[in-house]
Amino acid sequence: MINLNQHFSYHDIMTSLKMIADEFPEFTIYRNIGRSHDGRDIPMMRVGFGMETLICTAGVHGKESINPPVFLKMIEDYCLAYHTRGLIEGVDVHSMLNKYSICFIPLLNPDGYEIAMYGFDAIHNSLLRRLCRRRKINSKDWKYNARGVDINRNYPSRSYIQQQLSEYPASELETKALLGVFGDYETMAYLDFHSSGNIIYYYRQAMPYTYNIYSRHLARKLTRASGFILGKKEEEFMSSLNGGNSVHFYSESTGKPALTIETVKNDAPYPLPITYQDDIYRQIHMMPLILLQELKPVSCYAVLQNNLQTLN
Ligand SMILES: [Zn+2]
Repeated sequence: MINLNQHFSYHDIMTSLKMIADEFPEFTIYRNIGRSHDGRDIPMMRVGFGMETLICTAGVHGKESINPPVFLKMIEDYCLAYHTRGLIEGVDVHSMLNKYSICFIPLLNPDGYEIAMYGFDAIHNSLLRRLCRRRKINSKDWKYNARGVDINRNYPSRSYIQQQLSEYPASELETKALLGVFGDYETMAYLDFHSSGNIIYYYRQAMPYTYNIYSRHLARKLTRASGFILGKKEEEFMSSLNGGNSVHFYSESTGKPALTIETVKNDAPYPLPITYQDDIYRQIHMMPLILLQELKPVSCYAVLQNNLQTLN
């Protein structure tokens, strides 16, 4: 049983996921989708039977340590509800997950998470450890991977901008792991959970008007459920350093919705207090289910995808 409002180390997260997978082997698949630069497995849990799949990621930025434990609780809740044919806030999870699947990736950047939680000594590789220390950034504020790269600026999208010499599009193992997942499934949408401002970003500058209207509709459903605010479209291109996000790559390569969910208020201290976990859970635990209720079937995107290819 996952109990929130406590610290979860990388090891705790892995153990908890395997425990849930062992308890519900009939409708879950646990697998490692890759390995970080410091040698940590990157876990994924697929829940449900449907071919059409929603991808949810958390733990992309090391210091944003609240969402990974909350994902564990959500995964367990969904599994319990499926198993008992129970409802979660009126949603029939059993029917939903017979029709669709959800791939939860609770910790895409395990090295960054361990640095933010336990300091640079958590990095096993002495070369990488020295490299991280040289950045002169407090470990509690660390959002990068163990090579000091922001993996949410590393995706091969139109807005990609090189941040440092050692980096190029999809240079990082964590980036490659998620790109592999995007390619492995018949995905229908993507939710990327971060922690900065209780806000949901939907606008994708590279995408057509109709795409953004539809994404805005979906995002509004999620703001109503969570109390978060809707991000302004101008905020997507406020800084030229904001490009190369996983949501940019996903939207541009599939034509399907990709929303960024920012939990936690803007002035939250780091390390994020573990007492936030309950509130965040309450705010986001319905989001994947609400999105699945609202999404159009995958076949609807074929037309948009064809249009995008013509534009390219
Ligand atoms: Zn983030």
